[in-house]
Amino acid sequence: MEHGSVNLGQGFPDAEGPETMKSIASSAMYDFHNQYPSLLGVPELRQAVARHSEANQGIPVDWATETLVTVGATEGLAAAFLGLINPGDEVIMFDPMYDSYVSMARRSGAVIVPVRLRLPDFSVPLDELAAAVTPATKMIMVNTPHNPSGKVFTVAELEAIAALCVKHDLIALCDEVYEHLVFGGARHVSLRSLPDMAERAVRLGSAGKTFSFTAWKVGWMTGPSRLLAPIVKAHQFLVFTVPSSLQRAVAHGLDKEADFYNSLGPSLEVKRRYLESALAELGFGVLPAHGAYFLVADVSKFLRPGEDDAAFAKRLTVEGGVTTIPVSGFYVGPAPPSHLVRFCYCKEDAKLQAAVANLKAYL
Ligand code: PMP
Ligand code: GLN
Repeated sequence: MEHGSVNLGQGFPDAEGPETMKSIASSAMYDFHNQYPSLLGVPELRQAVARHSEANQGIPVDWATETLVTVGATEGLAAAFLGLINPGDEVIMFDPMYDSYVSMARRSGAVIVPVRLRLPDFSVPLDELAAAVTPATKMIMVNTPHNPSGKVFTVAELEAIAALCVKHDLIALCDEVYEHLVFGGARHVSLRSLPDMAERAVRLGSAGKTFSFTAWKVGWMTGPSRLLAPIVKAHQFLVFTVPSSLQRAVAHGLDKEADFYNSLGPSLEVKRRYLESALAELGFGVLPAHGAYFLVADVSKFLRPGEDDAAFAKRLTVEGGVTTIPVSGFYVGPAPPSHLVRFCYCKEDAKLQAAVANLKAYL
């Protein structure tokens, strides 16, 4: 803001979600839904979460015992780590990763074991993954579609992860907040939908991502009751519950027809294509991806001697009028790549065009 830079950094959409959801949320307040709802979430939303799981991923869910409404996926993640991890448990996480995992997992006593995804397409190194499992491994964390890369995990990768979970009796924590944001022929498959995984996987979703209401902070989890029970205990003392007006609106949203969900990916793909080709023309090396709303670009061509991704991102904000996020900030393991930045492209066309114009003038 200080430098008047076009903000393609933080991940949030310019366009808001469905009007009907807003009016349901506001009328729920006038209809006296203003006192503590159930700690698990309002039944309407938990039932809708169960229907959504079955309709989109074919995973049957008992709404009464296998769902939990959370304060965004962020609180769900925190409650999952606090509820499931004991000090010293190892948690395998793919590097790079969404930054909130690290602090909450460590605070719960977890030892994070990073397995680095392979560039340029962030593929899973299956041998390294298998070698990362030890007798202390408790959990594997899978975020698909992936932040910061936009990678959509392939079925083969998910099957290999599932096989490890079954073989070593591991819990899978599945961050699928971008589940409907896929395009370019890719398909989102939940790890929880694979054979023998429903009993050992917990899945997270978010109204911030699915309905573009990031400020509402409404998320949901599904999982077997034996895993949800300790998570619910953590949730009880973290936040207890979630505003019921917003829960009612999200319940309505989750029952939307397939057309709504199917329109989300293609509208993002148009924006990605635009930014991708403009960046490629300028000399950025755009890495391939088919999901979420992030694009990772190789900026080696523009780095000055001694400059890394963070210094470049800062210079681009201050002098170039475009803000990105240095990807090294999403890595936990040693010596992260220092030549990649993340652009968030779920922005108005005019904003993307302004960013491209600024880059053209500066670089
Ligand atoms: N997981 C990932 C991968 C994310 O990108 C985000 C968005 N910030 C979250 C979880 C958190 O979602 P929420 O805003 O629902 O807490
Ligand atoms: N998840 C979003 C991102 O990765 C933003 C969330 C936040 O700013 N905490 O940019």
